[in-house]
Amino acid sequence: MSEAGDRELLEKQFQELLAAEKAHLPALSAPPKRRRPEPPKLVREAVVRDLEGRVRRLAEEHVFRHGRRLAGMRETLQARIAEVAKELEATPYETEQAKWLVYKQHMLEQADETSIHRWDNDVSKIYKLSPPNAGKSITDNNPYVNLLDIEEFDVASEVYPYFDVPATWDPELYGKFFTTMHGEVTGDPQAFLPQIMRDRQRMKEEALGGRIPPVSEQKETDLAKLKQEIREYARSLGFPTLGVTKLDRRYTAESADAELPYDTLILLPHEMPLDEFKKIPTDNPLMAFTSYRDGGQAVHKVADFIRSKGYRCLARVSSDGAIKYAPHAVNAGMGNYSTFGICIFPEVGTRTKVTGILIDAELPLDRPRDWNIEEFCSRCRSCQKTCPAGAIPRDERRFRGTLKRQTYHQRCFEYMATSYECNLCTRICPFSVLGYEQCMRALPQYYRYNIHRDEVDFARLREPAQPEVAE
Ligand code: SF4
Ligand code: SF4
Repeated sequence: MSEAGDRELLEKQFQELLAAEKAHLPALSAPPKRRRPEPPKLVREAVVRDLEGRVRRLAEEHVFRHGRRLAGMRETLQARIAEVAKELEATPYETEQAKWLVYKQHMLEQADETSIHRWDNDVSKIYKLSPPNAGKSITDNNPYVNLLDIEEFDVASEVYPYFDVPATWDPELYGKFFTTMHGEVTGDPQAFLPQIMRDRQRMKEEALGGRIPPVSEQKETDLAKLKQEIREYARSLGFPTLGVTKLDRRYTAESADAELPYDTLILLPHEMPLDEFKKIPTDNPLMAFTSYRDGGQAVHKVADFIRSKGYRCLARVSSDGAIKYAPHAVNAGMGNYSTFGICIFPEVGTRTKVTGILIDAELPLDRPRDWNIEEFCSRCRSCQKTCPAGAIPRDERRFRGTLKRQTYHQRCFEYMATSYECNLCTRICPFSVLGYEQCMRALPQYYRYNIHRDEVDFARLREPAQPEVAE
């Protein structure tokens, strides 16, 4: 192209940029728009807060401050909680929620830079896990993990199994909390939890040798072919992608080692169907539970398929706290970290619950890959702006001695507990709703666009990419 032609082209581009700037000027002075849909409220917040305060005082009186065995204390505590709940006319879910809030907050408050306290199973004392898990301190300082992980996973890794609530408090807390929630939303308290727990139980039994599934004597010796066959079978069960990496025990719970005997890990993110996902949060507030349930069943089927090919393996369901899936998925090149710490997969964004299979075979490994996702996130931050609880920091934050991309779990949890669920951060993510290709095509426009405004314009993002200028 001639010099005059170049100048003409540059001038044209400049005029376009100027027009775009002018178009956005009114938005600069306008207050930020709030376009997020509000999740339905499950509880009366004032009642929960009131009850929570009273439960906390009762717990302090009966549990937290005593380091000694108190016969009958559980009954006393539960009876006193029932009395105040009745006095406040709290619903069953409001009551379970207040108990849950106190329990989790107490637990998280006890975590410090190097250790965590928790209750013993049948004694009301708080004790410190010491010395801290050496592997976890490596995790915290590994540059790969700088963009890792939510607080709960860290806590879970050190006190696995996470939901082993002490008898002193209420050993059925976990079940009651979720079944009352599911009952209120779907009319069926057993809609999800029994199946989720069955698959979890099966996982544990198989891992600890209590149930040994049959393995075919005929081995598929071509491991690349085997990997491809697993991929195809898994795809038919709702896993759109698969990755293989070595199990990195810096990212597993130390106390779960006995359950993780093999070193090759297959990662299988179970897809939440787009149509259903789009109904979050108002019309399908329990979408995440559907995925936990269906993904758990499906991953056991894939494990059975692998056994039919002659290899021992163990399925790990998505609600498993023993393996941190995000760094493994990133190591397997399946995606990159999101602003709120979990892995974005090009095939499904964050519209997934990740499951895994440990296999006793040297399957071909996948390599890490830069998908340009973090670049996109740095221009987007929609999840951070949308989060109603302010639980997603814009930048990395310091946690346990290192900078991490990490949510404030307690804020998120408190918000989620007063709604049915939330999931707005996943729902708003352009990778989840528009797809990877569209996000990447829009990236050049997005740079320019986002310089001028602090909110994502989804209509703009949906526009087809500009035709490239001919050389
Ligand atoms: S909403 Fe935006 S910033 Fe958040 S994870 Fe998705 S792409 Fe990244
Ligand atoms: S971080 Fe928690 S509260 Fe915030 S949008 Fe996500 S699910 Fe909702």
